[in-house]
Amino acid sequence: MPDADISPIRSALLHHRSAWTAWFRAVDGSVKEGVVPGGAEAAVLVRSVLQLPSKTSPTRLVSSVRQAFGIEEADRESATGAQGWAKVFLSQPTLFAQEHVFQVAAGSAPTSRRQLVLAHEIAHFFYACLEERANAASKPKKPYGTRTRQAEQFCWDFAIELSCPLEQQRKWTLAFLRDMLTPKERMLADTLSSHGLDQLTYWHLRRLASQYYLSIRAVIRALDHHPILDEALMGIAVFREIPNQWTGRETGLRLWQYARPSWGHIISNKRAAKQGFTSAGDIFDESTDQHTIVVPESLHLWRRKSNERAHWEMVRNKTACAYTTIDVKSEGRYLLAIWHWPR
Ligand SMILES: [Zn+2]
Repeated sequence: MPDADISPIRSALLHHRSAWTAWFRAVDGSVKEGVVPGGAEAAVLVRSVLQLPSKTSPTRLVSSVRQAFGIEEADRESATGAQGWAKVFLSQPTLFAQEHVFQVAAGSAPTSRRQLVLAHEIAHFFYACLEERANAASKPKKPYGTRTRQAEQFCWDFAIELSCPLEQQRKWTLAFLRDMLTPKERMLADTLSSHGLDQLTYWHLRRLASQYYLSIRAVIRALDHHPILDEALMGIAVFREIPNQWTGRETGLRLWQYARPSWGHIISNKRAAKQGFTSAGDIFDESTDQHTIVVPESLHLWRRKSNERAHWEMVRNKTACAYTTIDVKSEGRYLLAIWHWPR
């Protein structure tokens, strides 16, 4: 939200639509002062304010939220890049007033991803308000609306909750997922059965993504610490060619995202090979799109010591690891890894 040079944003929004007033009231009633709630929590409050039935389709839901909160969708032609955006600007002044205009665009996202990207961009307005509210007593460290890591996580969680509410996500079990697969997907998943990796595969993630209008990466975000990974005894990681996020240098195949069972952890930003994903580099360079290759690996994983929340030990985990390279038009190429992660 680079154009958000309005402070306070809250008063601009309150002026805009009554839904904002109702939402702020709901926030004030349930979120402590000085705290920015999670994106999912903020989205639940949006649902409750609009009283939308949980069965509303994601497409309807996103457009209802936009309308109720007075957020316009820009012309498709106005978005040039692959990234969506959210902007605030001033309308042409009329005789009586000049108003702030709140606008979002989904960039060149394909139809299946449009709703998710729009919901994410809408979330930036909600985040800006909550950040402003949390910092009301102090001077903000960064300008409102900056795309920090925290802001991005909030917006994805908000978007995921709108597309696929938590009560839906709680229904996900291995049996539920298996029933969702098409016969062809089931056949493809079954090719991994000799490695014991057929219960949760790229095809399961893809099916979840299309069922709920999510991206594969949004599904992985929803699966982090989800009970289904405890049930499957599995972990999921996404690697990508990126520079070190702290130094901005040393581009390499690094851990970009993960979904962990409740007892496990791996280290974000660290190179794939340094965590035992030794075949990742070659497979990333050579394999074709959406083709799964299984290789044995000896992974360095962290395990929570029993009953001690903050204590971790490093464990070497010899396991079969299923790698799938995925080319996404708007995001570039990434490598998915799914493996056994015993307790
Ligand atoms: Zn964003």
